[in-house]
Amino acid sequence: MLLEGLRKEVLEASWDLLKYRLVTLTGGNVSGRDPKTGYIAITPSGMAYEKLSPEDIVVIDMEGKAVEGKWKPSVDTPDHLYIYKKREDIFSIIHTHSTFACSFAMLRQEIPCATTTLANEVGGTVPVAAYSPVASGLIGPSVIEAIGDKSACLLANHGVMAVGPSVKHALTAAVMLEDNAKSYLLAKHIGEPVLLEQTEVKKARDVFTYLYGQK
Ligand SMILES: [Zn+2]
Repeated sequence: MLLEGLRKEVLEASWDLLKYRLVTLTGGNVSGRDPKTGYIAITPSGMAYEKLSPEDIVVIDMEGKAVEGKWKPSVDTPDHLYIYKKREDIFSIIHTHSTFACSFAMLRQEIPCATTTLANEVGGTVPVAAYSPVASGLIGPSVIEAIGDKSACLLANHGVMAVGPSVKHALTAAVMLEDNAKSYLLAKHIGEPVLLEQTEVKKARDVFTYLYGQK
């Protein structure tokens, strides 16, 4: 089987979307790019994640042509491909409809950076990409316009797009973004959260990039 390791990573991340309650039913999608072949492994469209096995993950080329796999790839595939083409540093994209992040997306409001963890994992305040209808091919361009050097952005009236140099990084950004959206909303109920200064955001981001975790 082609790209067995990457397909497994994509599949396991899709299970984590359920585990961390970032999607409901078959919502959202996960993809990873193989650095050697440039092929993309992506979750199939509209199938229950918990029933999938590695061979159900679809392998396509950068033009979206099927390379291996029996299913139709995610409906958001053109947006993933657009992002990969524009950003050579991105090797994984995860799309969710997580509840707390969606409440900001409905308001078209960015998630302010009031914790070091959001600074660590996403790189600061989470921006909002302009509203784009699903399957219009416009989500990718709106993400590229909004995301800058962050690891995630909100999609207005829709959800979240998280990106990273690996599936693990994109997943961490998606999980921590949701966690922070939740704690920010809770803090708002009892007072006015103190936002981190830009210099502190940068320090926290650098710690995550250069020091945290195992080599
Ligand atoms: Zn969606």
